[in-house]
Amino acid sequence: MGAADPGVSRVSTDAARDLADAIRPRPAEPPAVPATSGRLLAIDRVSLEYRTRERVVRAAHDVSFDVYGADRFVLLGPSGCGKSTLLKAVAGFVPPVSGTIWLDGEPVRGPGTDRIVVFQEFDQLPPWKTVLQNVAFPLRVAKQLGRREAHDLALHTLHKVGLAPFAHAYPHTLSGGMKQRVAIARALAMQPRVLLMDEPFAALDALTRRRMQEELLRLWDDVRFTLLFVTHSIDEALVVGNRILLLSPHPGRVRAELNSHQHSHESVGGDAFRDRVADIHRLLFDTAEVAQ
Ligand code: ADP
Ligand code: MG
Repeated sequence: MGAADPGVSRVSTDAARDLADAIRPRPAEPPAVPATSGRLLAIDRVSLEYRTRERVVRAAHDVSFDVYGADRFVLLGPSGCGKSTLLKAVAGFVPPVSGTIWLDGEPVRGPGTDRIVVFQEFDQLPPWKTVLQNVAFPLRVAKQLGRREAHDLALHTLHKVGLAPFAHAYPHTLSGGMKQRVAIARALAMQPRVLLMDEPFAALDALTRRRMQEELLRLWDDVRFTLLFVTHSIDEALVVGNRILLLSPHPGRVRAELNSHQHSHESVGGDAFRDRVADIHRLLFDTAEVAQ
């Protein structure tokens, strides 16, 4: 996969910085991150359910958390605990059965271009569009940029992430890592208030996954976008997040909220990191201890 993925290794810190310049909000746009880094998103006692004809499935129960500007906020919990549903609720696709989701002091009532989701699946890029068309299309449709403006911004963005040589390629010719990079470039080019990522690297091999995590952190370092990131991997949560919300098994309830800015790829495998992983594992799964 690595050999068929030449664009990946070319992405340098410089390229990330250039991308940051490319996607930094233009003067006419509202800033992606408030100057004060104040509270951007508030999830206030939210419960979420799926109703089928036979039964009601409660996916999340009475969940509250706040996301501040430039946070890398991670939702961590076992499979089925409602992480994706919470993300979909923030995106505006699943309305809460109780509680409220606030974005910039306004209740979320549906989807909007201020929240863009990057999913795990590699097929989130329409296969009949080239890489360039994939990045330009939402700029045209949702941001209502003119054809030339959208084309130029999309090409510029791709150029800066080292994907310009693949601008006219179709998604099926790209590796999984490159498809995810296109999906991230497409999302960031939209300058959302919050970037929502649902296990975006879970289907990648370990080396590509680590490279993508590093690249995401480099991009964050330059752009300081606000990230709400879902994972079931404790290691990934510690490396990617500055704050982590621990959710119980189904239906998801808040177990704890932790700071994790002190961890990085460099600390993985060290004693402090291992202890932290063990602590989190206990908090996630040791119900007896939590119930005390
Ligand atoms: P996670 O992302 O943490 O793995 P999900 O948010 O996907 O969890 O799912 C939470 C719960 O809701 C699970 O029990 C799942 O089976 C259920 N669920 C998810 N999607 C649907 C759906 N469309 N209809 C009914 N139940 C669903
Ligand atoms: Mg999920």
